[in-house]
Formats: sequence, structure tokens, C-alpha cells
Amino acid sequence: MKQKDPHRQLEKLKNKVLGCTECPLHQERNLAVFGEGPWESRIMVIGEGPGANEDKLGRPFVGRAGKLLDRMLEKQDLSREKNVFIANIVKCRPPQNRVPHKKEVETCFPYLREQIRLINPEIILLLGATAMRSYWGSLDEKVSDIRGKWHREAGRLVMPTFHPAAVFRNRNYQEYIEQDLNTIAGKYRELRR
Ligand code: SF4
Repeated sequence: MKQKDPHRQLEKLKNKVLGCTECPLHQERNLAVFGEGPWESRIMVIGEGPGANEDKLGRPFVGRAGKLLDRMLEKQDLSREKNVFIANIVKCRPPQNRVPHKKEVETCFPYLREQIRLINPEIILLLGATAMRSYWGSLDEKVSDIRGKWHREAGRLVMPTFHPAAVFRNRNYQEYIEQDLNTIAGKYRELRR
């Protein structure tokens, strides 16, 4: 059930994130990246962390991988302008785009948990191994083994898929991501009926 005034709480949380100095990642960031999309989005997409473009603009997924993600979402009539909230596991860019350390993830994760609580999405899509492992604490499975499969938890449907940046290493990944987005869009429409 939607809560009464999550918007105000989200604004407060956003301001907290923008000024956060809780972990060492704040030292080299330019801008913290809270995430973007309608507050009432029923779908939430979660990536690893901001890269150089995101750090510069304070927006998630605005580089090459982000543009690809936008195009793939658009094909399914989904977008951050209409119905998808896009966020990351850590809100500040790890130097040289390294994978965030366990401690950094642990320190930042309560922000994401609170975003999920307040936005209250029905569907969560995890992009890539870091997002998947950070979200579930630890997990031995590979994304390739469990992508495209629903995981039910706390009234939500969660699905991992590949990170769109993987497509630039191997074009075949795009087909898998598009299949998974198609499944997500189908479920989204089913839940709207
Ligand atoms: S990564 Fe998260 S915990 Fe670390 S400084 Fe940024 S907002 Fe704070």
C-alpha cells in the first residue's frame, strides 16, 4: 500500500544523500547521485554506482550505457520520465569506476532501502553482478544463471539481468537484457489490469 506522504520524505532523503559524507566515496565525488524518475514509479531499476558522466551531472545512467538502457526501456514503453525510477547501490562514484567496497556498500545501502520503502515499487530490476550481490547481501550465483527469473520478496518481484555496459563487451547481451525488459513490461501491464 502507498504511504501518505512519501514525496516529502523522499525529498528529505535526497537532500541527505546530496550532502552525505558517511563513507570515503564522498572525498572524490563531484555530485552524489540520488536517482531519478517519478516518485510513484511501479518499477525500480538499480545499477552499481555513478560513473564519470553521472558524477558530473548528478544523474544516474546518463553515459553510453545509460543511453542504451533508455533506448531499451523505450522499446517497452517504459522510461524514467513516465514509470521507472533509476537508482544505484552506491550514490557516489568510486574512483576510476572501481567496484564499490563491501564497507561502502554497507554504509550506503540504507539509503537505497529507504528509497525502496518510500517509492514502494512492485518490480525491481537489478543490473549486473554488483547490484545483484549487494542487494541480496551475498550470492554465489552468476547473473547468467538467474537472469530473467522472478524472485518474490516482501510483496515485490525482483529480477536480475546483465548491466547494459556488458553489451559493449559482447553484443549478445543486448538480446538477453531486452528479453528480460520485455518480461518486466509484460508483468507491469498485467499488474495494471
Ligand atoms: S556513497 Fe553513499 S554513504 Fe558514501 S558518501 Fe556517498 S551517499 Fe554517503
